[in-house]
Amino acid sequence: MSLLIGDNVVVSMHYTLTNNDGEVLDTSEGSDPLVYLHGAGNIIPGLEKALTGKPAGASVQAKIAPAEAYGEVQPQLVETEPAAAFQGVDKIEPGMAFQAQGSDGSVRRIVVTEVSGDEVTVDGNHPLAGVELNFDVQVTDVREASAEEISHGHVH
Ligand code: ZN
Repeated sequence: MSLLIGDNVVVSMHYTLTNNDGEVLDTSEGSDPLVYLHGAGNIIPGLEKALTGKPAGASVQAKIAPAEAYGEVQPQLVETEPAAAFQGVDKIEPGMAFQAQGSDGSVRRIVVTEVSGDEVTVDGNHPLAGVELNFDVQVTDVREASAEEISHGHVH
């Protein structure tokens, strides 16, 4: 019997991720396969679900809704800040990314989306928030995780 993907299994896979317009957002093509510990929250929940129960060699196509991927767009994460809040930056331009610390202490990546006079609009949503994801996966290897990998929650 071949080992099937489930909790505490290490999976190697090649994948291509596209949006609904067919644009490639990410791919492992041309590099090493992605290797991850299944069931430990290392990849998005929707892809874990789609891969569960599959053996090495399987091809998996999965369409994953934002709720099972990077979440819906949260309008409250789009904020307008005074330019003075960006100390040490000579010229603030759309597309610039910064690390921002929230009131709960968590660090979030924010991207400048608009600059209007002294007002800077930033967006703290994940770039793939609200995006339906299409995965084309080839499972290249499946093995049992070691006790150490399981206790660490990641692959060694
Ligand atoms: Zn470790």
